[in-house]
Amino acid sequence: MLNAASTTAVRYFVEFAAQAWRVFPNYRDRQRARGHKARACDNQAHALVVDLPWLRRLYRDRCLYCAGRSQHIDHLWPLADRGDDAPWNVVPACSPCNLSKSATPLRVWLPGRLSARTAGEAEATAALWAELAAT
Ligand SMILES: [Zn+2]
Repeated sequence: MLNAASTTAVRYFVEFAAQAWRVFPNYRDRQRARGHKARACDNQAHALVVDLPWLRRLYRDRCLYCAGRSQHIDHLWPLADRGDDAPWNVVPACSPCNLSKSATPLRVWLPGRLSARTAGEAEATAALWAELAAT
């Protein structure tokens, strides 16, 4: 289910990802310098650097988007759209969320995914995305 906690989690994470370069301005250079293997489709550096057990504990083994049981690791900014494996781009997701999201941008996929929820939850989601769009 989508609840206030997961809405807050998504909001927090999107804001954090948008500001992360301030904290780690050269993380991309460092990742490339380590010689991570290139991803076949677009030559994007691709290698998980985050501790997965730690990530699962951080989210209490829950999907970031719907609070279901976490089964996959999702990239908020899709790898297919030049996203990377920076810790703030890697989140746990349930299988239905991850497979339906695929390479769709979060701002496109999430409102549609959440519109399948109750009216009250859909309103909360719309308010969240209006707020995010204004920032
Ligand atoms: Zn989910």
